[in-house]
Amino acid sequence: MASKDSKIKALADKTFSALSTRFPDSTCSLDNDWPQNLAIRGIMSAQCTDKRVNITAKELFERYPDMESIANEDPEVIAGIIKPCGLTSSKTKSVMAFAKKMTGEWGGKVPNDTGLLMEVPGIGRKIANLIVGEIYGTPAVVVDTHCKRVMKRIGITESDDPAKVEKDIMKVFPEDQWIRIGHLSVDLGRAYCTAKSPKCDECPLSSFCKRRI
Ligand code: SF4
Repeated sequence: MASKDSKIKALADKTFSALSTRFPDSTCSLDNDWPQNLAIRGIMSAQCTDKRVNITAKELFERYPDMESIANEDPEVIAGIIKPCGLTSSKTKSVMAFAKKMTGEWGGKVPNDTGLLMEVPGIGRKIANLIVGEIYGTPAVVVDTHCKRVMKRIGITESDDPAKVEKDIMKVFPEDQWIRIGHLSVDLGRAYCTAKSPKCDECPLSSFCKRRI
């Protein structure tokens, strides 16, 4: 008889395969030009849509094309620009602190190190994982609201705690799938497994999803 762990591993394999087939071009929906700009978009993305972040960040980087100009600006002016993304006060502090680290101790290079990134106020595990994954391809799982919701419904995790969800995903998906499973979860969450009215009848996981069977 298959153990619980091997059943969840098999579930993870089927999930990855079905989602990769359904969303072959799945990728991060934040604009990705320069590493430092992507990191700032990541900071601005907390509780905001990627679409809104891309629009607002475009304005920010048109006015401030480098980290020095952001680090030296009056925080109130930066706050006025990033306000449409919400959580203005904490995001402003975080963006300014990131820009200062970049122009100071990091010597202009975004660190490929989640511990160092999390020294910036406002950068938590999710954003740090996004930064190292998207910029350096370092295996890391980004557990956002979609990922957390769909992984529980599918049966990969029983937890609502993002740190535990991340660990559960890392246990059953191979390392080289960690970045991609985050993107695929977002695509699934947007297209089918929405928070309020999941479209289970049309979902590519409906034949094996725990919530469905
Ligand atoms: S079958 Fe329904 S609950 Fe399961 S992943 Fe698909 S949409 Fe979500």
